[in-house]
Amino acid sequence: YKLDENYDYLFKLVVIGDSGVGKTSLLSRFTKNEFSFNSRSTIGVEFSTRTIRVQNKIIKAQIWDTAGQERYRAVTHAYYRGAVGAMLVYDIKNYESFVNLERWLKELRQHSDPDIVIMLIGNKADLRHLRCISIEEGSGFAEKEKTFFMETSALEDSNVEAAFIEVLSQIYNVV
Ligand code: GDP
Ligand code: MG
Repeated sequence: YKLDENYDYLFKLVVIGDSGVGKTSLLSRFTKNEFSFNSRSTIGVEFSTRTIRVQNKIIKAQIWDTAGQERYRAVTHAYYRGAVGAMLVYDIKNYESFVNLERWLKELRQHSDPDIVIMLIGNKADLRHLRCISIEEGSGFAEKEKTFFMETSALEDSNVEAAFIEVLSQIYNVV
């Protein structure tokens, strides 16, 4: 997890979930404070970073994003390797993306450290009128699977930073 002059800790996070739920958007909101309606067309980068002060420590978050391979469920072992945190994302108006969480979680647990910190994220919370997964269903799943839970909107910039900070802070508490 260590160390140079610029930060106290380096934590690798992965973002997983179905294609289209907003993984890349959450990442660009958190690392660049940007949002685009057609982010789907952007070429995936391996990871983005943001250095942020959490619990009075300087933490460099190296956050890995899938480059479309999640569409074919072809996320590799290398993607998960060394991750200490995961953002497991569904879209609150896409029932299938919620059902598929089971599979993502199974894959994550197969490939990662048993005490990886997991944040379940119900994204696109701005689309209230189209919601088909309630907050109770989201938090119920999180409770059952012992993950943290937040609803976010990358579009409205709501809870995105809070979700990442919560994960980084929980990771810091266990290292
Ligand atoms: P990914 O495939 O999981 O990486 O999803 P993207 O980040 O590419 O987002 C898929 C689409 O959903 C894009 O058109 C985004 O603009 C849109 N999107 C992402 N986050 C939000 C959000 O919080 N609210 C709304 N309304 N749209 C979003
Ligand atoms: Mg993407």
